[in-house]
Amino acid sequence: MRKLLLSFLVLTCSAFGQARYELLLQGGHVIDAAGKTDAVRDVAIQDGKIAAIAEHIPSSEAHKTIDVTGLYVVPGLIDIHVHAYAGTGMRDAYSGDHSVYPDGFTFRSGVTTVVDAGSSGWRNFPDFKEKIIDRAKTRVLALLNIVGHGMGGGSIEQNLDDMDAKATAEAAEKYKDTVVGIKTAHYQGPEWTPVERAVEAGTLANIPVMVDFGDFRPERPYQDLVLKKLRSGDISTHMYLDAVPMLDASGKVMPYLFEARKRGVIFDVGHGGGSFLFRQAVPAVRQGFVPDSISTDLHIDSMNSGMKDMLNVMSKFLNMGLSLQDVIARSTFNPAREIQRADLGRLSVGATADVAVLRLQEGNFGFVDVFGARLQGHQELACELTVRNGLVVYDLNGISRSDWDRLGKYKVQGEATWDGTISTGLRTEKK
Ligand SMILES: [Zn+2]
Repeated sequence: MRKLLLSFLVLTCSAFGQARYELLLQGGHVIDAAGKTDAVRDVAIQDGKIAAIAEHIPSSEAHKTIDVTGLYVVPGLIDIHVHAYAGTGMRDAYSGDHSVYPDGFTFRSGVTTVVDAGSSGWRNFPDFKEKIIDRAKTRVLALLNIVGHGMGGGSIEQNLDDMDAKATAEAAEKYKDTVVGIKTAHYQGPEWTPVERAVEAGTLANIPVMVDFGDFRPERPYQDLVLKKLRSGDISTHMYLDAVPMLDASGKVMPYLFEARKRGVIFDVGHGGGSFLFRQAVPAVRQGFVPDSISTDLHIDSMNSGMKDMLNVMSKFLNMGLSLQDVIARSTFNPAREIQRADLGRLSVGATADVAVLRLQEGNFGFVDVFGARLQGHQELACELTVRNGLVVYDLNGISRSDWDRLGKYKVQGEATWDGTISTGLRTEKK
């Protein structure tokens, strides 16, 4: 009876020209690790959520259809290492001039969620939230720095007295919708204190810790960090940094890295302006020491150098031999799990409709590491279209648009139900 009623409703709706879905991405190749989908599928969106994924959903069921034939339709990319606490006026600091405003970098490379990696600490997180997080169209989550003042640069980040595990954990719990972990970074001293306090805060708040090991010192070997100090689920970022002991004299990946991985320690790329070398990454990837998550470490010194953007970092791994499916999973599904937000990074029915539509281009390309060495390759990912919370927020070639010379005397195009660019601001976005 219910089924009958439902079909009656559907028939009635189409008879009166009312579409079931606001937006339909038709004919694309869906890659979604959560749903184990790797096939041509249509994706329908309604009320900011994925409403249906099927082999064929007719255009008549959608208010707006976009033909994405020949393109890859994947969950909106998740970059778990960026610096987005811009605009504070702090010089020479990631809690200021080294950071970027997220919307200027995200949607154009298919990214819909970023995690700020410790630019703020418990003292200045409310300011970061008010100035950036709550105003961005990108979903901005954060790791709280174990330093109360965050990445203020210089002596601020070396001050052990400002590393308060309890205050950090309390702030993390207070803002638990946004704070997804703890960060320690840039420490130069011989003590383990920053790592220990970060792990203490992470344990109190039941969230992971991400470590940028700062200066590598003999008093605190990196091997001990990943074999003893970090818990299962904690993240070592900058995994292909020059200072990470990676290859033995014969070029073999050292066994302790695989042991650490077996313990549950997560290895993240965090490319940045100084933390990614092909001479570390290429042999490591060949021998199976691949990243759990791919991330950029986006900031002012990486944005225009070797790193560039999320798709450039992902393309590097494609050209080092990872499959497209693997690269997508490590930029969507995996990072979502690492930050305990399994609701993100997936295209399941009911999930927030954050979607990236990518083109896999074949040709001659070059990729550059942080020492300025090049890797030549034949594949490069480009972003054609990005959907955030059900709205088109980026459309490189206007594939959602009608040609001007067919429109007559046209007015402003697009509708609030699917368009987040021209008709921007007509629907409030949910975080
Ligand atoms: Zn960083």
